[in-house]
Formats: sequence, C-alpha cells, structure tokens
Amino acid sequence: MSPETRPDFLINPEGLRLDGRRPDELRKIELECGVLKTADGSASIRQGKTYILAAVYGPRELHPRHLALNDRAYLRCVYRMATFSVPDRKRAAPSRREREISMVMGNALEPALFLEEFPKAVVDVFIQVIQADGGTRCASITAASLALADAGIPMRSLVPAVAVGKADGKLVLDLGDEEDKYGQGDIPIAIIPRTEELTLLQQDGSFTREEFLEAIQMGITGCKYIHELQKDALKRAYAKRAPEASEEEEEEDVGTEYEDDLETDLGESEYDDEEEDE
Ligand code: UDP
Repeated sequence: MSPETRPDFLINPEGLRLDGRRPDELRKIELECGVLKTADGSASIRQGKTYILAAVYGPRELHPRHLALNDRAYLRCVYRMATFSVPDRKRAAPSRREREISMVMGNALEPALFLEEFPKAVVDVFIQVIQADGGTRCASITAASLALADAGIPMRSLVPAVAVGKADGKLVLDLGDEEDKYGQGDIPIAIIPRTEELTLLQQDGSFTREEFLEAIQMGITGCKYIHELQKDALKRAYAKRAPEASEEEEEEDVGTEYEDDLETDLGESEYDDEEEDE
C-alpha cells in the first residue's frame, strides 16, 4: 500500500487494526540507554517503525546568558525530524510543528525534574527523529526522559508518553502513521506514573465526553506499561556500566542457584526450576 492510499478500513471485521493489533495494544517498543558516546546521557526508542534518538547535555553553562533563570536550570528541548525520516523529503528548516513539539516536550518533562538544583544553568535535550511512522511526539518524550535519567539529572520520576486516538469510530492506543493520518483524532498524553499527574494533554479531532475519559484511562494504562520498559532499560544500562557489581551479583546468583538446587532435591522448588528452564 502506498503511503498516499487511504486504506478501506482501519479496523477490520474481526476488530483488529491494520498491523494486526487489538485496539488497546501498544506497538512493540524497544528502549536503550547510553547509545551515544559524546552526550552526557542518551537513549533510543523504536516504537513500531518509529525510530528516535535523544541526547542530553548538562547541566552546563547557558549561552546566551540572558536566557538564564535565577531560580532553576533552563530546560532547552529541541525536536527535529531528519529530512529522510518521512517518505517525502522533509525541509531542513525547523517547521512550526517542530517548534511546537519542542515546547510541549519541555512542558511535559519539567514537572519531573529538580531543575531548582541548578540555577542559571541549562539542560539541553536534543531529539532527532530518524524514522517517523506515527507517534513521534510521545515517543520523543519517553526517550528524552530516559536520556535525562541516563545523564544523572535529578528527577522525581521518569515520564512515559503515548497517544490514544479514534479509528473507524473506535478508541485505539498508540496510533500508527495511517491511523494518525486517516483516523478521527488523537489525544497524546504523558504522565508521572506514581501520581497519574498528566504533564502532556493535547487533543486533535473530536471526542465525546465518555470517549475522552476512556481515552485518558487507556493512555494511562499504556504509559504505565511504557514506564516499566523505561525502568528495565535503565537497569540494563547500569548493569553494563558496573561490571564489578554484576560479577558480584553473578557470584551471589551461583549461591542462590545452589540453594535452589538443594530445595529442589527436597522437592520444594519445582516452579522456580520451570522458570529457569524457559
Ligand atoms: N509526518 C510527515 N511529514 C512531516 C511531519 C509528520 O509525514 O513533515 C507524519 C509522520 O509519519 C509522523 C506523523 O505524520 O509520524 C505525525 O504523527 P506524530 O505523532 O509523530 O506527530 P503529531 O501527530 O503528534 O504531530
């Protein structure tokens, strides 16, 4: 199907979407930290075919100085799409949409950060969309938050984000490109998972009050799942960076395994054994 062809339906008679997902199903998401050597913190996200890199520098001295804030660090977010990230060559100059997404990203991330610890400094967050296939606004926030954690910026929480939209009159989680283009609207959200505080809430298209409330709940559930993936990515990165610590852990694991074996001999640990075999 060419990108310009409108599909006959977005939800098939079996209730499945163009890529076979159920309405409340996320695309496959892969998160990784520490992917760029030069940045203080970095992350990548693959969400379906969307692929984005996030780099964080700082806290560092702010130029130009007149932008400095006396009571906190300035969180400077820059969202850009590569010219080759979409089928039609995208113009290199920053578009209004890119400037708007840069601004809402900053607003979504700031409540999670202790920027007051670094008055007058800047924390720079650069987002580069390598391949866009829908959902880049939210995926950028998810990746940026992870890159900020990777850079060691003090934070209250990671910030996961996802959009809920409407396709063929049905609410769907995490829109793909066709659903974004040919659906009836979308509601991107970002949250602080512990408190369920919304730090991003936008709406495009029209929704009834009931649909809107259901969409928020669907989005919060999706965000909480993404939050688990963010935490896993951070743990993997820390395990890689602290080889001595993980060796110690491995040694401890050997001990645990031995104990488990003993338990098995006593017939008490069949379930654990099954899990290990998987
Ligand atoms: N897009 C495009 N060309 C552009 C900008 C966007 O083809 O210059 C497509 C791309 O697939 C992108 C989608 O439109 O993923 C927009 O959805 P996204 O969620 O990324 O951004 P938003 O809809 O939130 O602005």
